[in-house]
Amino acid sequence: MTRSAIFSPSNSMPKTILENHPLAPLTTWKIGGPARFLAVPRDLEEVYGLMRLAYGRGWPLFFLGRGSNILIDDAGLPGLTLHLAKSLQKLERQGETLRVGAGVALPRLARYAAVLGFSGFEFLAGIPGTVGAAVRLNVGADGQNLAGLLRRVWVATPQLQLLEFPARKLDLGYRSSLLLNFPHWLVVEAEFALNTPAPPQKIEEKMRQLLAARKARFPANPRSCGSVFRNPAPGPAAGALIEQAGWKGRRLGEAQVSRKHANFILNQGHATAAQVKGLIADIQENIWRTRGIALEREVVFLPDDLSG
Ligand SMILES: Cc1cc2nc3c(=O)[nH]c(=O)nc-3n(C[C@H](O)[C@H](O)[C@H](O)COP(=O)(O)OP(=O)(O)OC[C@H]3O[C@@H](n4cnc5c(N)ncnc54)[C@H](O)[C@@H]3O)c2cc1C
Repeated sequence: MTRSAIFSPSNSMPKTILENHPLAPLTTWKIGGPARFLAVPRDLEEVYGLMRLAYGRGWPLFFLGRGSNILIDDAGLPGLTLHLAKSLQKLERQGETLRVGAGVALPRLARYAAVLGFSGFEFLAGIPGTVGAAVRLNVGADGQNLAGLLRRVWVATPQLQLLEFPARKLDLGYRSSLLLNFPHWLVVEAEFALNTPAPPQKIEEKMRQLLAARKARFPANPRSCGSVFRNPAPGPAAGALIEQAGWKGRRLGEAQVSRKHANFILNQGHATAAQVKGLIADIQENIWRTRGIALEREVVFLPDDLSG
């Protein structure tokens, strides 16, 4: 880990900080109340200014990427939320590596690598999140995960320091990394290895196949967070456990366990966060009682998971 320069003294800030801004449309589940304050920083300088503002005033600070692994409470979020899906969009080849801003969407990263003629990124084409959140969780699909590509990561801490970590220091495991222990650290940039050259058409073809296979496996309703639970180790996958326990199609209000893939909970209309949480708790209780397995959530509850 390397520490580097403290942020510039300029109080750079976006022109607009939105008040009581709806967050549901910024998530894939389309659920949750408003942000007390929401800002869309244009660049790192503005991110720093906003962090300084929030910490200076004692406001809770939340990071939101593309909202594809998050459940926002019905009461919304206090303090300041930084919406990063349109910020930190750097995508730059440097020799045999790619430097990528935290706000870059994973499908865009996959396509960029394909155009450059490097394979290995195809599995990211169907994951609808940003690079920053993906690094934190070591996202994966189709037998691959980010750990196989990641070289280095830069994070900004609440003390306004920029830390650099080589990937080997991040304890990257199945949907986990050291960064999960530091939810107040903001991933700002990542470096990926370009080490498997391949013809772009072949890469595109592989991406098409993977996307088609996902389409066949996953529900058509896009209002979900992907997999709600991590797969327990060892043992059957979370989806299989939930299916075997008879949960497919069961609902609480307008939150429903998918009939196609039991690890997905769908918003079938105007589901509330309370309904989704209720369904999650009921499933956990049932699987624990009947199978003795504690299903662990992959999806993040905000603000709950950041309180205390
Ligand atoms: C249909 C569907 C399919 C999916 N398929 C997969 C899959 O195959 N494999 C897989 O692993 N995941 C999958 N996911 C889950 C999800 O896309 C990933 O977890 C993704 O990395 C989340 O990124 P995001 O930008 O949407 O994060 P968000 O949901 O916005 O945030 C998730 C968490 O990360 C934090 N965060 C966001 N940005 C940063 C940052 N820059 N620095 C630090 N913390 C940050 C947030 O505060 C929050 O705690 C799927 C989701 C959906 C909806």
